[in-house]
Amino acid sequence: MMQGEILLEIKGLKKYFNLGHGRVLKAVDNINLKIKKGETLGLVGESGCGKSTAGRTIVRLYEPTEGSLIFEGEDITGLSGSRLKPFRRKLQMIFQDPYASLNPRMTVGDIIGEALDIHKLARGAGRQERIVELLRLVGLNPEHANRFPHEFSGGQRQRVGIARALAVEPQLIVCDEPISALDVSIQAQVVNLLKELQNRLGLTYLFIAHDLSMVQYISDRVAVMYLGQVVELADSLELYAKPLHPYTKALMSAIPVADPDEAAKRERVALQGDTSGAIDPVPGCRFQPRCPVAKEICRQQEPEYREVKERHFVACHLVV
Ligand code: SF4
Repeated sequence: MMQGEILLEIKGLKKYFNLGHGRVLKAVDNINLKIKKGETLGLVGESGCGKSTAGRTIVRLYEPTEGSLIFEGEDITGLSGSRLKPFRRKLQMIFQDPYASLNPRMTVGDIIGEALDIHKLARGAGRQERIVELLRLVGLNPEHANRFPHEFSGGQRQRVGIARALAVEPQLIVCDEPISALDVSIQAQVVNLLKELQNRLGLTYLFIAHDLSMVQYISDRVAVMYLGQVVELADSLELYAKPLHPYTKALMSAIPVADPDEAAKRERVALQGDTSGAIDPVPGCRFQPRCPVAKEICRQQEPEYREVKERHFVACHLVV
């Protein structure tokens, strides 16, 4: 696959939830992103920033409130039923808690087989062979097909979730915090498996996480989300070496550093307050109530999201 071609374009995407009594949660509020074929785009931010809702809206588990999703040049936003089905196959998701997303009463073989059946991808002996092939692909054994999800460890269950997603030969996988619930020792194994599968199968990932160090490791580019909006986007190395948005700087300063000399040199930016403002965002910059360098203009005017240097986008009045 050629890197650089756009696989999915997300234009002005919004997902609002009506909470009743006139209150609206603006979980995703005007996101614009282009995901290139074969890349991993990281999407990071604190819990409650809307990153998981964005992922679910992108794979059409949620209906977008506004905006469009252009997949390989085709607008899939308004599609439903049989016209949406082929795209559902191309856009898959793996979840933070594989246990909750796997039917406990089905064997692993049936769980993977069900995905094949829905899209009529294999039958009879071919179906069984494909299940075995998928189990091997994710580092499990053919015998695992007869077991139930509760018989597996957390890491193994995540492998089952990956095999189920791969069964339908997707092009884009939204990985929603796929390692957050796993032991640290297992996290790297699952991330390495995802990388290996990407190389073998030419997959594209949207990798959602709050753990910045793991996102840096797996991502080609990283987008930082704050209260429903993307506030910074850059190549992974650039973002980690030269973050520009005050929020990104605060997130970066919280990453633990192994080297004590390096840690002593680091300026830690403490974030006050929380992310509850998505229901009733403040005027101007949404980060302003927590921003350590906010100015008067930040209270009055929403900063424009723009390219400040090549391939580096940011929404902040103070970044010129
Ligand atoms: Fe802080 Fe103002 Fe930049 Fe917002 S626009 S991040 S409040 S400096």
